[in-house]
Amino acid sequence: MEYPGNLFVVAAPSGAGKSSLVKALLELDAKLAVSVSHTSRAPRGQEQHGREYWFITAEEFRAKVEHGDFFEWAEVHGNLYGTSRAGIEKRLADGEDVVLEIDYQGALQIKQLFPHAVLIFILPPSWEELMQRLNRRGDTAPEVIAQRMANARVEVAQAQHFDFVVVNAVFDTAVFDLKTIVHAQRLKYAAQRRNRSTVFRALDLP
Ligand code: 5GP
Repeated sequence: MEYPGNLFVVAAPSGAGKSSLVKALLELDAKLAVSVSHTSRAPRGQEQHGREYWFITAEEFRAKVEHGDFFEWAEVHGNLYGTSRAGIEKRLADGEDVVLEIDYQGALQIKQLFPHAVLIFILPPSWEELMQRLNRRGDTAPEVIAQRMANARVEVAQAQHFDFVVVNAVFDTAVFDLKTIVHAQRLKYAAQRRNRSTVFRALDLP
């Protein structure tokens, strides 16, 4: 599968700042689209069906898995999450750049299926800082934080399988790093041949 659009896959442990970073990146780049995942977990706070997630039951989720509707799916912290195949493949085929904000299991599945995907792992600057960020969220019980810290050690160990690593120590620097990765992908030969076809033709480039 080789599509004209770029597929960026961003993973990170809980508390590393992934959602805020991806949100900032999307605000800066009108050509990037985010894919809304399906999940079996219940909505939290202000979350809306179709905006943060498509909220479905575990039974509906399993039926979609059986039907082959997901590009990837995984169980994360006891809930099911999946990226729908239809949305992604069409957008990439139309030449759009798509960002997936998913867990490392999903990211690694995508790399298998689609080696052109660009995998980006967001790291916290230290374990202490990650713990402080999880505590600052305020609404989380100590045992949940301990569980997230334990999960984070498993998740961070997967960073070595990713193409790029961004350390989220200073937020603006991390956003700049993400922008740079996206920009560099768009400067690759195949991308430039599509985007700058007039120049390529004028220079007789294949
Ligand atoms: P939360 O429930 O906090 O929104 O998300 C929990 C974890 O599931 C996060 O790491 C999030 O990135 C991940 N996640 C969200 N959507 C998907 C998806 O479609 N596939 C996979 N594999 N993980 C997802």
